[in-house]
Amino acid sequence: MKCPACGHIDDKVIDSRLGKDNAVIRRRRECLSCGKRFTTYERIEDILPYVIKKDGSREPFERRKIIEGMRRACEKRPISMDRIEAVADAIQQELMERADKEVSVASIGERVMDALRRMDDIAYVRFASVYRSFRDIDEFIKEIKELYELKETREQRNPQSDSPDEKQGLQNSP
Ligand SMILES: [Zn+2]
Repeated sequence: MKCPACGHIDDKVIDSRLGKDNAVIRRRRECLSCGKRFTTYERIEDILPYVIKKDGSREPFERRKIIEGMRRACEKRPISMDRIEAVADAIQQELMERADKEVSVASIGERVMDALRRMDDIAYVRFASVYRSFRDIDEFIKEIKELYELKETREQRNPQSDSPDEKQGLQNSP
């Protein structure tokens, strides 16, 4: 960006903020030559990376796709649309801040899985089974076991939320 005061072209971004409609990002910049601060408005689609798909093809990043994938996984689960949108926004924000030109579809999937793992076990497993396309059933079972080990650790830390029935069922399942 050209400095409006001295015309120098190097600056640093000191703050980035998404517009209300999620289409524009407002950036505060500081000229590296004269120190003048100015604001730019950039279209999201110009900043976001291209997504590299499994077959190697590329497509523009779309927040909508993250939301659709999560909605499917969260069907009939106690997760509000607001929470789903917040996850999509956080991922988009992170990608904008990283400013990479490309990102793999797998690494976006991992970010969604991290979020779902903390929100809802069922939604997490649903999403993971589609997104990670487990090579075989053993891999899938291993993932579920890890998930429940995590859950048991959490329950040990917080004994009030202990649910013996559920645990019993899990030990029998694999
Ligand atoms: Zn300047």
